[in-house]
Amino acid sequence: MPAPTPFRLHPSTRARRTVIALVLLLVMATIFVVDTVTEYAVAAPVFHTAVILVAVRWFSPRTVIAMALGCIALTVLSFWLTPTGNYRVGLVNTGISTLAIAITAYLGLKMVAAQAAAHAAQAQLLQITRATSLGALTASIAHEVNQPLAAIVTSSQAGQRWLNHQPPQHEKVQQALQRILSDAERASNVITRIRGMARGEAPQRQRFVLEAAVREMVQLSHNALEQRGIALHWDFAPNLPPAWADRIQIQQVVGNLLLNAIDAINEVHPSPAAPEIILTARRLGDDQLQLTLTDCGLGLSAATQSHLFDAFWTTKEQGMGLGLTICRGMVEAHGGRIWAEPRSDGQRGTQFHISLPAAQEHTV
Ligand code: ADP
Repeated sequence: MPAPTPFRLHPSTRARRTVIALVLLLVMATIFVVDTVTEYAVAAPVFHTAVILVAVRWFSPRTVIAMALGCIALTVLSFWLTPTGNYRVGLVNTGISTLAIAITAYLGLKMVAAQAAAHAAQAQLLQITRATSLGALTASIAHEVNQPLAAIVTSSQAGQRWLNHQPPQHEKVQQALQRILSDAERASNVITRIRGMARGEAPQRQRFVLEAAVREMVQLSHNALEQRGIALHWDFAPNLPPAWADRIQIQQVVGNLLLNAIDAINEVHPSPAAPEIILTARRLGDDQLQLTLTDCGLGLSAATQSHLFDAFWTTKEQGMGLGLTICRGMVEAHGGRIWAEPRSDGQRGTQFHISLPAAQEHTV
């Protein structure tokens, strides 16, 4: 294996750092001289804090600590060498200056560490967003388009059989062609809708009827639900106010929860006799709506419950562990909340709740 290339600074950065280091040393020396030749009452060493602030911006923590220690040493030395003034005042000034230098170095280094952590988190978030949108888009398209394609193949084979029949059954062929046409149209609609969802990034709030948006999303998962014989039950309170949120993002959240619920139901062995998912919506106070999705899946273990929303935490072989992290990001971007708990009726399964802003009279 080739030896790793050692990290090197760009020559212009190195030159700039050298100049800055020299200037800072010069400033430190000037402060020292001024402090030594003036009387105790002049607290010149406090200006060492400016040196530390500049050093924090340009040098490694180790260098900053070395410079802070250097400043403190110079402060104490100049106090010792100062010939005139009130000794007590000098002692207090030296103490304050030393403390100020130490605190500035500590806070400066803390700030730099926090900035580095924020940059790292930002980079990770960007990576997550890219991976999720691409992964989720590919997975949804593959999943949802697979079914109409399979149906098209079946109808084509049936059409061929009816054509080869003696005598050929033209009416049956016609029906098969009609099915092919509508399945192809469905596949195309699925792709158009999923692409539309992928486009909405920042929350773009609008008034919309929650039930209609959820039903549209459920339609996308229709095949997965049908294949597994999962029944959907709706329990939406009457006269709910419209939601005030990004319709597409809320649909993405519902879609994720729905797929997770289906996965959780699939993990129950033997399979439940009458698998079901219940969708409930009600008003939450004056200005919020609460949507609840209840499944009859495996339920939440203690470990699952405490890590559910952690990025990259998954119990699935093919899972990415990002779905719920993204869901939480989207819901919280609306000032809402998402949380999970075991089913309230004591049966096996999980309930996911989302709270969302409801549209007020004046919201347009
Ligand atoms: P992924 O689906 O890729 O694993 P998620 O962030 O969507 O990522 O989910 C993280 C984990 O949370 C899942 O692997 C699963 O263990 C758990 N989980 C999610 N939804 C449910 C649910 N309805 N019932 C039980 N466990 C769930």
